[in-house]
Amino acid sequence: MSEPPVAPDRTVPWFPGGTVLGFPRIGPNRELKKAVEAFWAGRRELDDLQADAENLRRATRQRLTRLGLSPDDAAIPSDFSFYDHVLDAATTLGAVPERFAGSADAPDPAGAAAVDLPGYFAMARGEEDRAPLEMTKWFDSNYHYLVPEIWPGTPVRYADDRVVREFLEAAADGVTTRPVIVGPITFLLLSKAVRQADGAPAGFHPLDRLDDVLTAYAGLLRALGAAGAPWVQLDEPALVADTWDVPRERVLAATERAYARLAGELGRPERPAIFVAAPYGSLGDALPVLAAGPVEAVGLDLVRGDLPDAEVLRSLRHKVVVAGVVDGRNVWRTDLDQALGLLEEVTARIGPGARVAVSTSSSLLHVPLDVGREKKHLGKDLRGWLAFADQKVEEVLVLARCLTEGRDTAGGALAESAEVRERRLAHPGVRRREVRERVAALTDAELARAPYTERVAAQRAVLDLPPLPTTTIGSFPQTSRIRKARVALRRGAISDAEYRSAMRAEIEEVVRLQERLGLDVLVHGEPERNDMVQYFAELLEGFAVTEHGWVQSYGSRCTRPSILWGDVVRPRHMTVEWSTFAASLTDRPVKGMLTGPVTILAWSFVRDDQPLGDTATQVALALRDEVADLEAAGIGVIQVDEPALRELLPLRRAEHAAYLDWSVRAFRLATGGASPRTQVHTHLCYSEFGAILGAIDRLDADVTSIEAARSGMDVLPAIRDSGFARGIGPGVYDIHSPHVPSTEEITDLLAAAVAAVPAHQLWVNPDCGLKTRRYEETTAALEHLVAAARAVRATLQEQGARTSLSR
Ligand code: GLN
Ligand code: ZN
Repeated sequence: MSEPPVAPDRTVPWFPGGTVLGFPRIGPNRELKKAVEAFWAGRRELDDLQADAENLRRATRQRLTRLGLSPDDAAIPSDFSFYDHVLDAATTLGAVPERFAGSADAPDPAGAAAVDLPGYFAMARGEEDRAPLEMTKWFDSNYHYLVPEIWPGTPVRYADDRVVREFLEAAADGVTTRPVIVGPITFLLLSKAVRQADGAPAGFHPLDRLDDVLTAYAGLLRALGAAGAPWVQLDEPALVADTWDVPRERVLAATERAYARLAGELGRPERPAIFVAAPYGSLGDALPVLAAGPVEAVGLDLVRGDLPDAEVLRSLRHKVVVAGVVDGRNVWRTDLDQALGLLEEVTARIGPGARVAVSTSSSLLHVPLDVGREKKHLGKDLRGWLAFADQKVEEVLVLARCLTEGRDTAGGALAESAEVRERRLAHPGVRRREVRERVAALTDAELARAPYTERVAAQRAVLDLPPLPTTTIGSFPQTSRIRKARVALRRGAISDAEYRSAMRAEIEEVVRLQERLGLDVLVHGEPERNDMVQYFAELLEGFAVTEHGWVQSYGSRCTRPSILWGDVVRPRHMTVEWSTFAASLTDRPVKGMLTGPVTILAWSFVRDDQPLGDTATQVALALRDEVADLEAAGIGVIQVDEPALRELLPLRRAEHAAYLDWSVRAFRLATGGASPRTQVHTHLCYSEFGAILGAIDRLDADVTSIEAARSGMDVLPAIRDSGFARGIGPGVYDIHSPHVPSTEEITDLLAAAVAAVPAHQLWVNPDCGLKTRRYEETTAALEHLVAAARAVRATLQEQGARTSLSR
């Protein structure tokens, strides 16, 4: 049994026996979204927004106290954010790009805030002529953070005391919280070096600014110490990844230096005790570095990461080890018995004097709030298998009590949680014979289509497309008319038949528009899809959807991921009706539109009782049947979107190959049954291909569309040099921006594309789907896109490039 995590020596203060690394910030009814959007729309004043946020923070503290986290001892994290926690770190450190500097009307109480709240939102969302910070995926999750810009001249100093103010706000309510902020190494590794007009020296890396950043963090720590904070949590998930653009030795050296300085320069209570948390994987060789340094507590992700060996754990005996054994990323109830076993093993490996606290593996920001509210769509069985944020807090606390006071204090909880898991695994929907048998009978033959050259010839014979064919990525603007129809259907105000006819009317308009614009391969526009994953989840068996299960995706944007709980079966076709209706309206080819297996997995909560690759295989088989049905219904072009292929890429290089193997295999299983005459497209909406170029080739799609407009076709030479010989559609219209590109701009992009890749491989399309754009912009942009394609075709012909085009 472990000692209670009280310090036997005075060097480590009391750390609570149970805690969570972070909690959903959006509120039970997405109050944060409503508050900030009302402010952005001018419906609420700044003071109102501040009051809304304060109420929300207070409600969260009360909620966590009610759930059993102690209000007295830093068990409750203080991790509120108006938009994003990486942006918060940037503004705390005053690391504000020049274009946003000086936007604070009134200096902060700290005396020197670089931006006020409107300035903060401007950094997140952009403003007329000031581009926002870039946004990208947070580790391998579907949360997005804003990328700080660091250059040699970035002003870095402790500039904003928001973290301290929120600690004091809680203290005034009688709650001692534990402030949470992104740690210095992660902050710098997530930043990008931005070359200013005056020039960042070549080879500059944000890590070059480590000392300045540490000085700023030291300022924050001193202020927190003065405010009386016993602990601070510095999140260092970057340490579990090894895919950064600097050598691992440099990351480790920076880590050592950072914590030696932060914990060594100031004594306590001048500063709070430091807890370094490292969610999303194993710390690996960074753990001995932290163990040897002076921080007071280290957090381990024991769900995603490995259990460190005894020697390493033993070296942590002078620190608190915060063991993340409750999964912060998924929604299944914890097998408490097994988790307790793990905690006991950690305790034993550390040896005498071990101080082990129980926690979640990551912040609970990735999961919905309370499964108790899901009475509508989730059956009783399924509800009983799930733990959302509230339930996970309770699990942590049961485990913490068992660890300090013995197993019998849990009552029946340990046995019950193991039984629940057994019951789940025994449920007839979780393992279905027909699915298992089909998977077992699969052979590699099912993955291979005819050779590409043969396919090209067969497709040319049926499709008759011009050089540089034009198309779109699938969705057309989701108008308020479409959304209203969907709401009306849900409320029962219109019948299913009425809804379908409304969608058909939309499709007809979209088809007519594309014909008028002169696009070559048409789409039906996806009006019937609320979301590209949820649409399929609702039609497949083995998935469930929630009513209130919102999680933050970025800023005020939330998604409601589906839950993939059982074996996947497609009871009937899912998209044929819409695609064939569109095809019936026109002589041009209409592209069928499916979401790929990896993306369906990435944007859902997925069963944890089998490897992801096995689950992907099942989803792929359902899609394979859909492909066959589309073909049989006469759809000759089919796109299988995989925008999340890159997002799930493991954080460790050593795991990339295995991941890419199963993900490529799933895509090929979904598409491998297509006839040579059927043109298979895929779409990946990002442009950093480095790590996955080979995999994209192995997908064996006939045409691949990618994002390229913003980077001005920079990716094409690498794609060509990798030997990629199939169709490629580099996006020529950045759909994330309201800017409508002119014909000349698009012509220039196409000219760059033609210079980089043989013209016969090229397609012309936007960067991504058009669902978030308005019709005015879409129509104008597509007009220009078609005009540019025609212009470039004409030039190519003039240049006598006929030979390369007619190949
Ligand atoms: N076909 C989808 C669309 O056009 C693809 C979206 C995506 O790549 N995220 O909306
Ligand atoms: Zn896309």
